[in-house]
Amino acid sequence: MMLSLVKKNIYSIKPYRISKEYIHTKLDANENPYNLLDILKEKFIENIDNLNINRYPDTNSDELRELLAEYVDVKKENILCGNGSDEIIQVIINTFVDKDEYVITHSPTFSMYKIFTNIAGGKILEVLSNSSFQINVDEIIKEAKFKKAKVIFLCNPNNPTGTVISKEEIERVIRKTEAIVVVDEAYYEFLGETVVDLVNVYDNLIVLRTLSKAFALAGARIGYGIASEKIMDVLYRVKPPYNLSTFSQEIGKLFIENVDLVKNYIQKIKEERLFLQKELKKIEYIEVFPTGSNFVLVRSEKAKRIVEEFKKEGLSIRDFTKEDLLRNCFRITVGTREESNRLLELFKKVV
Ligand code: PMP
Repeated sequence: MMLSLVKKNIYSIKPYRISKEYIHTKLDANENPYNLLDILKEKFIENIDNLNINRYPDTNSDELRELLAEYVDVKKENILCGNGSDEIIQVIINTFVDKDEYVITHSPTFSMYKIFTNIAGGKILEVLSNSSFQINVDEIIKEAKFKKAKVIFLCNPNNPTGTVISKEEIERVIRKTEAIVVVDEAYYEFLGETVVDLVNVYDNLIVLRTLSKAFALAGARIGYGIASEKIMDVLYRVKPPYNLSTFSQEIGKLFIENVDLVKNYIQKIKEERLFLQKELKKIEYIEVFPTGSNFVLVRSEKAKRIVEEFKKEGLSIRDFTKEDLLRNCFRITVGTREESNRLLELFKKVV
């Protein structure tokens, strides 16, 4: 009885499941390997000492937005905070996409664009990337016009491939379509290129960022969107109230106030990425794709075995071997030197 009430498209969605098996080395979720709360703990405890936790949080995360605005170099009014950038993806789709209207993205990419579009009753059109995962921007522009798309998602650098889209190409999409162009810069800090300076030039651009990756705050669930005040006016009508807990706002503020510390660790991760790429390229039976992110995509005929053997040893990497477009691929998050060494040792053992 109850089941017949469920919206038709819900059963086509696979629930987001995360394995709870024993993992010694976790290199599967693009997380930051460093827990910076270890360093900032005293200050955090001091900051939360007098919180009025019986009251609702600041609904629009004003103080956090002020600090983010300074970090990004925009106005506070250009920022919206979300419970992770996932929530902002959903807010954007709910704001612009009605039943049967089109969202365009490239494929393979981050799965939540498609999932939230499906839930909203919209249609997703995925423009296939080529075999080296280059994104076909002109095809995206063409399809967006043809389908009268409401929203286009460009993921830069792209998850899970690491592919970078040039600023010139992104600007071309923004100028040549009528759609809202969302540029997901979740991994911006590992690349250093952004289109955020264009949010007050084009009023069809939204940039997405997160504190989950470079800021090492995946557990705090803080994402943010940056756009013109015109766009913000409509997004704020859709955003749920009180969407960031008081604790999240406090820890987010603290980490942005300590951005220099965060930047030191970003540098460490970028150096480790260079080392890992260099060492991986020495392994004969794998193909290593270029990356602008804190992860590396790898393709190998032996992918299935590698993923399985690593798992047995308690080392987790992201397995894409069952996905058509990513056949024989897996994704490795850049961790600490110790984690890289363990991974490289295991590669030697597998063959
Ligand atoms: N966008 C991209 C491209 C991602 O890879 C992720 C996390 N995997 C997110 C958005 C969501 O991040 P969060 O909700 O943690 O901010």
